[in-house]
Amino acid sequence: MPNLQKSDQSGPSYFVLSCMDYRHMDDIVRELGQLNLNSLRPLQADDYDHFILAGASLGVAQPTYTEWAKTFWDHLETAKLQLHKTIHTVLLIEHEDCGAYKLFFRPNDLTSPLSNENLLHQGMALLVEHAIKNHSDPYIKALNVHRLIMRRPVAPLTQWTLADLPPL
Ligand SMILES: [Zn+2]
Repeated sequence: MPNLQKSDQSGPSYFVLSCMDYRHMDDIVRELGQLNLNSLRPLQADDYDHFILAGASLGVAQPTYTEWAKTFWDHLETAKLQLHKTIHTVLLIEHEDCGAYKLFFRPNDLTSPLSNENLLHQGMALLVEHAIKNHSDPYIKALNVHRLIMRRPVAPLTQWTLADLPPL
């Protein structure tokens, strides 16, 4: 069972995947600094590698640009297997109002009552989580995975906030 607390070894504890959206980058850094997973302890500064793909989990799962998924796996494997054996958890950070979802899904997919935004985000994040859990390398498949989403600001809030992805 992966330990959510920082290892005594030098190196990051987390591998973060997020979208490249310009609106929420500073908010992700702030929110990660305040995140308290399983009430054990807040994430600390300098405690994660951050990998960015348009659409976050959708960037890995979409079939249009197949090299994106390969690049994600190359980086996760490099981070965990070669650079930082201290990494024990992958954080999949989706975000609301994601342009990549509008790009890769047909408009009808986004407006159907059965395909609301949360369902699509949860579905894509679950695909990536399942791929991690079925990875051929035992150290990759043993990684813990948390599925999260950045909520866009709703007045009077001016900043994006991080939350657990609601279950399907
Ligand atoms: Zn996005």
